[in-house]
Amino acid sequence: MITFSQVTKRYPGGHEALCEASFTIATGEMVAVTGPSGAGKSTLLKLIAGIERPTSGSVLVDGQNIGRLSRKAMPYWRRTLGLVFQDAKLLYDRNCFENVMLPLRISGMPVKEAARRARAALDKVGLKDRERAMPITLSGGEQQRLAIARAIVNRPSILLADEPTGNLDADYAELLLDMLAAFSRAGVTLVIATHEPRLIERLKPRVLALRGGRVLT
Ligand code: ADP
Ligand code: ADP
Repeated sequence: MITFSQVTKRYPGGHEALCEASFTIATGEMVAVTGPSGAGKSTLLKLIAGIERPTSGSVLVDGQNIGRLSRKAMPYWRRTLGLVFQDAKLLYDRNCFENVMLPLRISGMPVKEAARRARAALDKVGLKDRERAMPITLSGGEQQRLAIARAIVNRPSILLADEPTGNLDADYAELLLDMLAAFSRAGVTLVIATHEPRLIERLKPRVLALRGGRVLT
C-alpha cells in the first residue's frame, strides 16, 4: 500500500510542485495520475521512487518511509520497482539484450534463467529480433519499448510509468495497454502518469487528478 500524508514538494527556487497531497493506493490497484503539464504528475512518481524527497509530509510504501531511506538503502528500494520514465537511462554501451539482462544479473539470477526471461521480455515488447542491436540505433519508440522490457523483466510488484505511451506509435500503444492490463490482472500495483484518453477508457483505472500540485480527486 502507498500512502501520501500531507506531502508537499518544493523545488529549489520555491515552486511548489505538490501541495499537501494526501491519498492512499491499495496493493494491486491501477491509478492514472492526470492533469495538465506542470500539474505535479512526474513529481508524484519520483517521490514514490525516492528520486525526490518530500519537503514535508510522508510517503509510506508498505510502512516504509521512502523520503527517509538512506542513500545506501535507496538502490535496493529502486530495484523492487519497475520504472518507465521519460529519460530512460538506457546503457548505450551495451546491446538491447544486455540492457534487459542487467537488472536480473544484479539481483543474482543465474545466467541461463536471466537470459530466458530477458528474451521473453524483449519478445513481449516486439524487440526479439533486435536483441543484438545497440540502443542508439533504435528509434525513439523502440527505445521506449526497450525501457519497458527492462522495467518489467524483474516482475516488480509496483510499476511506475511516466507517459508510457508518449513515444509509441498506435500499434505499440495498443500493445502497451494490453501489457498494463495483464500486469494489473497479475496483481501488480500500477501508477501511470498519462493524458492518454484511450488508456483511461480501455483500462478504467482509478483517476487521481492533479491541478497546480493539488489533488482534486
Ligand atoms: P508534470 O509531470 O505534471 O508535468 P512536474 O511534476 O514535472 O509536472 O512539475 C511540477 C512543477 O514543478 C512544474 O512547475 C515544474 O516546472 C516544477 N519542477 C519539476 N521539476 C523541477 C525541478 N527539478 N526543479 C525545479 N522545478 C521543477
Ligand atoms: P515466463 O518468463 O514464465 O515465460 P513471462 O515473463 O512471459 O513468463 O510472464 C508471464 C505472465 O506474467 C505474463 O502474462 C505477464 O504479463 C505477467 N507478468 C509480468 N510481470 C509481472 C509481474 N510483475 N507480476 C506478475 N506477473 C507479471
